[in-house]
Amino acid sequence: MVKIPVRQYFALIARYLQPQRRRVVWMALCLLGSIGLQLLNPQVLAEFVDTVTGENTRYPILSIAVLYIAAAGGGQILNVVTTYLASQVGWAATNALRSDLAGHILGLDLAFHKSHTPGELIERVDGDVSLLNKFFSQFTLLFGGNVLLMFGIVVAVSMENLVAGGAALLFALVALAVILRLRQVAVPYLAAHRQLSAEFYGFVGEHLTGREDVKANGARGWMMRRLLLHYQNWLLAFHRMRLAGTLVWGSSMAIFVFGNVIALAIGAWLYYRGDISLGTVFLLYSYFSQLSRPMEQIQEQVEQLQQADASIARIRSLLDTQSALEDVGTSPVPAGAFDIGFSNVSFRYEDSEADPSGAWTIDELDIHLAAGETIGLLGRTGSGKSTLARLLLRLYDPQLGAIRFNGVDLREMPVSELRQRVGLVTQDVQIFQASVRENITFFDRSVSDSVITEALEMLGLGDWLHSLPHGLNTQLGAEGRGLSAGEAQLLAFARVFLKDPGLVILDEASSRLDPETESLIERAVERLMHGRTGVIIAHRLATVQRVDTILIMEAGRVVEHGRLAALASDPGSRFAQLLKVGLEDVLV
Ligand code: ADP
Repeated sequence: MVKIPVRQYFALIARYLQPQRRRVVWMALCLLGSIGLQLLNPQVLAEFVDTVTGENTRYPILSIAVLYIAAAGGGQILNVVTTYLASQVGWAATNALRSDLAGHILGLDLAFHKSHTPGELIERVDGDVSLLNKFFSQFTLLFGGNVLLMFGIVVAVSMENLVAGGAALLFALVALAVILRLRQVAVPYLAAHRQLSAEFYGFVGEHLTGREDVKANGARGWMMRRLLLHYQNWLLAFHRMRLAGTLVWGSSMAIFVFGNVIALAIGAWLYYRGDISLGTVFLLYSYFSQLSRPMEQIQEQVEQLQQADASIARIRSLLDTQSALEDVGTSPVPAGAFDIGFSNVSFRYEDSEADPSGAWTIDELDIHLAAGETIGLLGRTGSGKSTLARLLLRLYDPQLGAIRFNGVDLREMPVSELRQRVGLVTQDVQIFQASVRENITFFDRSVSDSVITEALEMLGLGDWLHSLPHGLNTQLGAEGRGLSAGEAQLLAFARVFLKDPGLVILDEASSRLDPETESLIERAVERLMHGRTGVIIAHRLATVQRVDTILIMEAGRVVEHGRLAALASDPGSRFAQLLKVGLEDVLV
């Protein structure tokens, strides 16, 4: 049975229909008009029959015909306007909800994003919200409208004859109850079909993503067999669903025909008793057959309500999810380059499966980086370097200790401002399917070409820009097609450079680069770090030699920290040993 969380429905309706009150009022007026015309139609028909058979001569037959055509035409026009308004209301409301949800999801912390796949979130923002389209645009009004129409028909029939009115009421209630129950018969088949189609798309999605592996490992035959098996099950479920649907539809039709039989029987009986005219027999018949449409629509709307029910619950719980990061700080983020203090910082990922023992990913880190200096982070994979970078961007908060910029705790600054002042270049730079210009400015049209060109020149990328076939207009493919890993990093440097942050965090590309790109990157890093505090997760000897201090990490702990020159010249230091064995071989 449908469980209706009425408060949630009204909260959603109030919030998203409020801005469109005027359209909704117009929709309601059109609907009322259309109900009035539908109720008027059989009356005109009855008048027509009685005039033709000579039972009364109240109106000339031509006026009745004109009225009939006007009512039919008016009804159609009102239908078109209502459908138009409903679709506008539905789209405006769902788009507002979509953007609220997308904004909310983007504001949630990384731990949330790690535990929800992009596909799942797309389904929430788009799939669930699309299901609500009809709910917003039609449900409340049309449901009410249909109930009103049924009620109006019963009243109109009763006004002609009380016995017929009683029969109409009884028929309407019993038929509606039976139709709604019939619907339940088809529900499991519908659900099974939906489940199988979800599984099918899940299967296809997974294998399309892994197509290279599938091909490389010769798993094509196996995959095709699984695909055919999916098709086979899907087809079976589809047939069952169609069969159940047809049976339900056929039974509903039989019920409506039965309604017509009742109307004709009562009509004939009353006519032969001389209680009503032939026109009224027509009137009863057309009112009874009019009952079928609102009943069908109510059945459809109950189904939509069931779907909306699950979607609303999921959307609600998503909107209720709060970011694990409290964003209440108001202290301004320092301008220019700032110093960074880690005081006794310990952090672990809450849901860390990698560390069931509860070991810290960052363990009592207590260091200070001077403003404008660059630190090189070294350590094997998994030692906690990227985690340290994430803490600086406040993607997570440490459980113990504090991180401070110029003495101000990160938690005291507004998150968005903080991230505006910290530039991050990761190893896998996201390139969008757009022009070089859009990729650099993140689609911000207010940045002029000259500013971008200047930034690229400053970073020593002028020649690179000229080498692009269409300059800033060169189109880049999705997933960075057409750019090497090094070039993607160069592009990311330009992004950060335009942002002009006080701290730059760079996770160097660990893949080997061609000498030309390598030297471009070196120069660009030099310019990028100029006048800013820098944290470089280094993989290259050339980069390491340019930093001011070195920090070597192991399992979240600092094992060596000191100035580059001092460590390099101390043969006993780990750093000196690393240099001897070759940085690239040990750290990548
Ligand atoms: P590095 O950058 O030095 O390779 P990371 O900071 O990425 O190291 O990882 C440090 C440790 O934290 C590793 O044991 C890793 O498995 C774990 N880790 C990294 N990211 C997450 C995450 N999102 N959730 C849980 N554990 C993580």
